[in-house]
Amino acid sequence: MKAAVVVIDMLNDFVTGSLKCERAQRIIPNLKLLIKTARKKKVPVVYVGDAHLDSDNELNVWGPHGMKGTEGAKTIPELAPAEGDYVLEKRTYSSFFETGLDPLLRNKGVDTVIVTGLHTHICVRHTSADAFFRSYKVIVPEDCVDSFTEQDHAKGLEYLKMAYKADIPKAAELVKKL
Ligand code: ZN
Repeated sequence: MKAAVVVIDMLNDFVTGSLKCERAQRIIPNLKLLIKTARKKKVPVVYVGDAHLDSDNELNVWGPHGMKGTEGAKTIPELAPAEGDYVLEKRTYSSFFETGLDPLLRNKGVDTVIVTGLHTHICVRHTSADAFFRSYKVIVPEDCVDSFTEQDHAKGLEYLKMAYKADIPKAAELVKKL
């Protein structure tokens, strides 16, 4: 497998700010392990985070969050991108929608997308859908994604398995295969 790790919306606003998700704390150590291992093994690490403009449709659903250029739209300090990582901006749920992610992955020969971050039933789901539509294999390490509630998280994982045949390993197992 030729994998890339996509880290979605691990931004200040989603972890500690205006759309705070308490449960995000539990995935930070697992993401650290996965990202550190990926860098060591030369597996591309791509951060894709909200950078909203005030005209974005999504703000009608959630209110202002992840506004372009603000502190809230920056990756949390614990998971700050390192040299050699890629950082892309998105303006809706899918990390593939008008972000340039697909050509980046294709040019690196990637066939498997490891989808991580927030939230299991929203941006992780839409990103997995777009990865599937583009013929990538989808891996969603279950302890590297989360939602506002356990129910949303569990339902999100079920959907990913059912619709996209996503692999749902734990981070500790996945890093052995990178
Ligand atoms: Zn958003």
